[in-house]
Amino acid sequence: MKFGFDIDDTLINLREHAFHIYNKKLNQNISLDVFQKLERVEIHEPFGLTDEQGSEMWNSTLEEIYYTTCLPFPNAVEILQELDREGHKIYYITSRPKEHGHRTMEWLRALGFPVKEDQFFYGMKDEEKVHIIKKLQLDYYFDDKPHVLNTLLEYSTTKVFVKDQSYNQLVNLPRIVDLSEIRNMVQNK
Ligand SMILES: [Mg+2]
Repeated sequence: MKFGFDIDDTLINLREHAFHIYNKKLNQNISLDVFQKLERVEIHEPFGLTDEQGSEMWNSTLEEIYYTTCLPFPNAVEILQELDREGHKIYYITSRPKEHGHRTMEWLRALGFPVKEDQFFYGMKDEEKVHIIKKLQLDYYFDDKPHVLNTLLEYSTTKVFVKDQSYNQLVNLPRIVDLSEIRNMVQNK
């Protein structure tokens, strides 16, 4: 079967990692409780930043956010390795900017994720992911972002799952909390 994954906040805990970096950089100590209640993808509001300042902060910190010690979610590496060993195809579809595509691929490999270059797509806009997903005719696709997920509501060829997060509670699609739930999906097929 063909499995497609978004990367940030689906496979790896990027926003939380960035939240720690913001705390350090801005000399603050905002608790994780606040982070866990955020109702939007962006993390700058608790730091008192406007949307414009937030997006500046994000872009100027991107290098550090992407390539330092961001942790994968529990079971993410193991499950993808397992699927790969079982002969399933694993695709990554990330809207990380083009200039970060190759490095991201290498960074994921270093963490142990099974990555094949021709199954790694990057640099598209959120609303363009749907075209790649349709073209690949994925059996399963996992993402966290409402803006992406909402483009997939009507598409029934691919079983789309929400990676459960505080900011995507209103998305009306099946959701997974822990990536190990994928194991049951495959076994129950
Ligand atoms: Mg994401």
